[in-house]
Amino acid sequence: MPYEIIIGRNGQQPFTIPGTCEAVSHQHALFTVDDNGNWFIEDIKGPHGNGTFVQDVNGEFRRIQKKMIDRDSIIRLGCGGHNSFTFFANRIIAPDNFSYEFDLLHHRLRALQQEQAALEAINEKKAKKIKTIRAASGVITLGLLAYAAVMKSPAGFAPAAISGAVTALLPAPDQKHLKALAEKKKAILVCPKCFSPISETAVNNRVCPLCKAKG
Ligand SMILES: [Zn+2]
Repeated sequence: MPYEIIIGRNGQQPFTIPGTCEAVSHQHALFTVDDNGNWFIEDIKGPHGNGTFVQDVNGEFRRIQKKMIDRDSIIRLGCGGHNSFTFFANRIIAPDNFSYEFDLLHHRLRALQQEQAALEAINEKKAKKIKTIRAASGVITLGLLAYAAVMKSPAGFAPAAISGAVTALLPAPDQKHLKALAEKKKAILVCPKCFSPISETAVNNRVCPLCKAKG
């Protein structure tokens, strides 16, 4: 038997959307569960409404018309800012308990920390390799200079040319990926209830210092 809930400021969802969230319509979105147990969220207002958004794997909110979701999906009604409302789909079945969301935050944070540590280790290895090869190229350069001095030929080009060639051949440490990871971490580190940014400590303590949501 399919199941339907209208979500909005006057919706049937089991949690309140405050009146201050003016970007949210009285009846804004439709949540459905089909016969196979699949969850869907659908925008009711259409292209002229303020939009229903679902967060993608990179932490970006994408406007949707109808989309299959799961318990972990983060949904935003309205285009962002204080007059929009954001919630974990899980709240539809567990409105006041955030233990599932804090577990999820822990899990995602740990995965990102591991990815970051692995990347830092690779970068460190690369930096070491560059240092070693630079030192070796310095020895070769000295040898060439000594040889040039004996043969009385100019060898002034050698140090710069060798060091330049060696550096060009080596892969540079990956700062871009590290920066992207830091951004992703920032997008993930939000309270599962009020969606304010929270610290790693708050995630570990499983309580939001602002709205006191805990789990
Ligand atoms: Zn909070």
